[in-house]
Amino acid sequence: MSSEKVYKNFLAGEWVESAGGDAFENINPAETNDRIGNFPRSNSEDVAAAVAAAKSAYPGWRRTPPPKRAEILFRAGQLLAGRKDALARDMTREMGKPLEEARGDVQEAIDMTFYMAGEGRRLFGQTTTSELSSKFCMSVRSPVGVCGLITPWNFPMAIPAWKMMPALICGNTVVIKPAEDTPLSAFNLVRVLEEAGLPPGVVNCVSGFGPEAGAPLAQHPDVPVISFTGSAEVGREVAHAGAERFKHVCLEMGGKNVIMVMEDANLDLAIDGAIWGGFGTTGQRCTASSRIVIHKDIYGEFAQRFVERARKLKVGNGIYPETQVGPLINEAQLMTVERYIEIGTREGARLLCGGRRLTGGEYDRGWFFSPTIFSDCTPTMRISKEEIFGPVVSLIPCSGLDEAIEIGNSVVYGLSSSIYTRNINNAFKAMQEMETGIFYVNAPTIGAETHLPFGGTKQTGNGHREAATAALDFYSEWKSIYIDYSDKLQRAQIDS
Ligand code: NAD
Repeated sequence: MSSEKVYKNFLAGEWVESAGGDAFENINPAETNDRIGNFPRSNSEDVAAAVAAAKSAYPGWRRTPPPKRAEILFRAGQLLAGRKDALARDMTREMGKPLEEARGDVQEAIDMTFYMAGEGRRLFGQTTTSELSSKFCMSVRSPVGVCGLITPWNFPMAIPAWKMMPALICGNTVVIKPAEDTPLSAFNLVRVLEEAGLPPGVVNCVSGFGPEAGAPLAQHPDVPVISFTGSAEVGREVAHAGAERFKHVCLEMGGKNVIMVMEDANLDLAIDGAIWGGFGTTGQRCTASSRIVIHKDIYGEFAQRFVERARKLKVGNGIYPETQVGPLINEAQLMTVERYIEIGTREGARLLCGGRRLTGGEYDRGWFFSPTIFSDCTPTMRISKEEIFGPVVSLIPCSGLDEAIEIGNSVVYGLSSSIYTRNINNAFKAMQEMETGIFYVNAPTIGAETHLPFGGTKQTGNGHREAATAALDFYSEWKSIYIDYSDKLQRAQIDS
């Protein structure tokens, strides 16, 4: 079973060991005796070397015309597309998500790579008027410098691509510190960029643990841009480190996303959506539909049919085509989910199904948990408010749209929300009133596309967005340019 390999960091175009020679193991969460490989356990010395490489590559890359940068990204996109299946298999092995979902994750990286390559011939600024005659005004984008990228394990290739591709097309260089649970997919992405012809030092990759490798990257004085996706606790630390040096900091953090099911909803559709949104990726999506607020007139029927469907979900190793729900990422996550089952039960919620670790046979070799539904939840219970990041869904009854919206907005997060209704007025009202950065009608809370801004309000983020042209705003600085061809001093706001 085991084919353990030794992986290295990527610094200045070379694959090198960590300075201290330390390593950590990457293991398969569905089959914990399947050891995928040893990755460098990097420290601040490795991070400093990676930042130095990115800093010295920056002037050359910044001056490379964006369409030329784009040619490399297009080649990378083609390479990714050509090896999509192998990349997805590596991802399922290290992260656990079913192969079909892993293919989707790689596809998202492909989409983002092509999308940002297209920006090489756009990166549009503005030309505009001047209040003075014989004066020309425009704004252009400039790169910022070395970008430090810190990523989580749940989208092992998509999230690194969301951050890298816009950073690169804008002319920045990059140091990425991928999640310690899923370094292989980030390494695979970096290898593709190397093969596509990216000059040495433009992308550097150091694997390792958060405090040892992530923190030094966030704190490094030569890294003016930090993009972080992960938990709110770590996001706060990254923000503090950034504030010390006035860095650009983009934070994408947790969610407690709600599906609102109204009395006129197509119930078949709503249940399909709740199953996919609640249990897809084993509930380990920042956009997972972990709360379902249901109109009291259909609450009983919805709950009964939803439970029937959840019970039939096939939990197992994601490499098998029949698997619908993979394992949790690691033992710590499994213990967190178990703790929330206790919390929910103590709070008085009714456990309708699941609620336990799966054991016996192949289940004993991985971190498997049964799809879980709590009913009779109130909006103030901890299981209705806190991000669990597992296959646990809370059902909350409501008496109408206004109450559904109030419950939906009552959490500290603001990532994604959705409504199932056939009433167009209610759909538009919810669209207007929900405080989330993403909103769906007649679809669950997951399913973002790369050409729309991605991110959330309140404690989900800090006001930035990933993907789409919104990402370009984060990875570039606006430069406003005034060209006076009047041959005389003209004073804005004073001369007419
Ligand atoms: P995490 O915060 O534990 O780790 C995220 C990354 O930060 C990892 O690479 C980790 O090594 C690094 N890190 C840890 N401590 C650090 C420190 N002190 N300084 C710098 N870096 C450090 O999060 P996770 O468990 O990997 O991911 C799960 C979380 O991510 C969930 O809360 C989920 O909602 C969130 N998430 C959000 C989005 C979004 O776009 N909003 C997307 C995916 C995941």
